[in-house]
Amino acid sequence: MKILVLNSGSSSLKFILFDMHKEAVLVSGMVDRIGIPESIFSIQQSGGVSEVIQTNIPDHGAALGKLFEFLTMGPIPSLPNIPAIAHRVAHGGKFRESVVITPEVIDQITSMNRFFPLHNPAIILEIEECMKRMPHSLHVAVFDNSFHRDIPDEAAIYGLPYRYFSEKGYKRTGYHGNSHAFSAFESSKFLRRPIENLRLITCHLGNGASTCAIKHGKSIDTSLGITATEGLIMGTRSGDIDPGLIPIIMDEEGLSSDDISDMLVHRSGLFGISGLSRDMREIENAAAEGHKRATLALNAFCYKVKRSIGSMLMALGGCDGLVFTGGIGVNSSIVRLKSLEGTENLGFMIDPVRNSESTFLTMENPVKEISAENSPISILVIRANEELMMARECYRITRQLLEV
Ligand code: ADP
Repeated sequence: MKILVLNSGSSSLKFILFDMHKEAVLVSGMVDRIGIPESIFSIQQSGGVSEVIQTNIPDHGAALGKLFEFLTMGPIPSLPNIPAIAHRVAHGGKFRESVVITPEVIDQITSMNRFFPLHNPAIILEIEECMKRMPHSLHVAVFDNSFHRDIPDEAAIYGLPYRYFSEKGYKRTGYHGNSHAFSAFESSKFLRRPIENLRLITCHLGNGASTCAIKHGKSIDTSLGITATEGLIMGTRSGDIDPGLIPIIMDEEGLSSDDISDMLVHRSGLFGISGLSRDMREIENAAAEGHKRATLALNAFCYKVKRSIGSMLMALGGCDGLVFTGGIGVNSSIVRLKSLEGTENLGFMIDPVRNSESTFLTMENPVKEISAENSPISILVIRANEELMMARECYRITRQLLEV
C-alpha cells in the first residue's frame, strides 16, 4: 500500500510517498516559497536522482496541482494508486487521536486558527484541495500533539482561573509528538529494551524546540504549551518569559495583541537575542569569531535545554536514555556538549570524542550513541523521521477500515 504524507508550512509543502510494505520512500521533496516569486519545487527519487524546478506557485492548491502532475508522470500510474494520505496538523481541537477527516474534523482544526494564524490556513487549504482532487482516497489527520494526550492535569494546567482549563481547554498540549514518539521507538530498538521499561528524555531541537519526559512509552510532560511559544528558546520564538512582562511591554510601546504576538513568535529566540540569525549554524560561527550576542544566544539556548532536561528528570524520577534529535540536536555537537556540561554526577556522561565524530545518520540507521562507556544514562542522537510515524498512523487506520 502506498501512503502519501503531506506537511504544510505557511509557505512550504513537504511530501513523501511511502511504500508501506517495506516502509520504503519512493519519492520525497518539497515545494518552497509558495506565494513568493520564484517558488522552488525539489524532488528526490528513490534511486538518488534529484531535480529542482523553479516556477511560480501562488498557493498550496497550486502546489498540490504541481505535485500530482509530477507523481502521475512517473512514480505512480494514476492518483487512485494512493489509497490514503496523511496530513500533518498541529492541533485538532477536541480530536487528540489520528482520525479520518470529515467536515467536523475540519471545523475543529479551523477552531484553532487563532493559535496557528500562519500555518492553519495553509493546512486547511491543503486538506480541502487534496480531498477535491483525490476523492477516492482516505484522508487522515495526524496531530502533532496526540502523543502528549495522557499528560496528567497537574502537569498540563496553567495557574490561571480554573475556567480557562475547564471551559476553554487552555492547557499545555505540546507538539513535535511524532518526533518524540519516533525517538522513543528507536531508542527502545537501539537499546534492546522494551519501551514499557524505559524512562526517556527526548530533546527535539530544530527551528521549533521542545523536551519531553517519556515514561514507559507515554509522554508525561513536555516543554511546549498550547501556542507553541512556551518552553525552550527557539529559532525566532521566545520560549518561557515572565508573563507579567507582556502587558508592561505592550503599554510602554503601544503594541496591539498582534504586534506582541508577532514579536514573541517571529522576532525573539536565537534571532532576537543575537540580532543576527535564527539559524544555529550562523550563531555558532559568529560565536566562534567572538560575536558577543551570538555567544549569549548560544549559551542561553543550551542553558534552557539543560534546565528543561532537569525538570523532565524530576518528572520521571530517573532516566535510562536521553535523546537529541531535530536539525540542531542531530548536527550540533557544541549544543549537545554545552547542554550537558556539569551534569556528569547526575548520570549524563557524554563521550566528547563520540560526540564530535561526524556520523551520517540515515533513515535506515538513524541512531548513534554518544555516551561514555560507564555512563549510567545512554545518550543518543537520533535522526528525526516524523513522516514515517505519520505514515504508520495513516496505514494503521486505513488497514483497520479496509480490514486488510
Ligand atoms: P524545523 O524545526 O524547521 O524542522 P530542523 O529540524 O530542520 O527545523 O532544524 C533546523 C535547525 O537546525 C536550524 O537552526 C539549523 O541551523 C540547524 N542545523 C542544521 N545543520 C546544522 C549544523 N551542522 N550545525 C548546527 N546547527 C545545524
